[in-house]
Amino acid sequence: MTSRRTRERMIGRIREQGVHMERVLEVMLQTPRHLFVEEAFAGRAYEDMPLPIGFNQTISQPYSVARMTQLLLENRNVEKVLEVGTGSGYQTAILAQLVGKVYSVERIYPLQQRARRCLQNLRLRNIRLQHTDGNEGWAEYAPYDGILVAAAPTRAPQGLIDQLAIGGRLIIPIGDGRDQMLHKITRTETGFEDEVIEPAIFVPLLDDVI
Ligand code: SAH
Repeated sequence: MTSRRTRERMIGRIREQGVHMERVLEVMLQTPRHLFVEEAFAGRAYEDMPLPIGFNQTISQPYSVARMTQLLLENRNVEKVLEVGTGSGYQTAILAQLVGKVYSVERIYPLQQRARRCLQNLRLRNIRLQHTDGNEGWAEYAPYDGILVAAAPTRAPQGLIDQLAIGGRLIIPIGDGRDQMLHKITRTETGFEDEVIEPAIFVPLLDDVI
């Protein structure tokens, strides 16, 4: 169930949906998603769908991971990335293999601990995790070339926008419940550009830590 063929089928589906960056697809082919889901769901880890990871949260759908990673990286060089919503750590693992350094914050402590173990087992070392409210970003290491948010607020948090470098991109679902759109917000010399990409379905971005 975790065979190369099963993984290739998943990549094929993502490609059909318009993700074309080969290095993103290659990293997703190589990364063992079944290690990031609960054991009961390991057999379904290479289906293109979100799966439960406990605490009412889900590991993001592979297509969303691929799409958001491509939006973050395409046509430029990206060194430093902030991820909001570590969750299982799967998206973190993908990013860590494609950029210089990943900073990732999560509001649910036990999830963060589990992600930390998974990422250590994969020997990914260019990652820093913090248990905190991602609405505030992570000021200590700002500015970031890219910020990727895996949970949906009703509007883009100012704290995150402020931590973008000039030319930096914020990839973020915005909206209420099932009425969400994925946005690509770029910081320019003079302000911001906001591009609406496509509909999205993410858990809400909350504002407390547990
Ligand atoms: N990329 C992760 C997605 C997990 S779901 C994965 O594929 O596993 C989104 C995550 O965002 C959840 O773990 C949730 O706890 C977290 N989250 C929600 N609001 C947050 C906030 N304000 N700060 C940090 N993390 C938050």
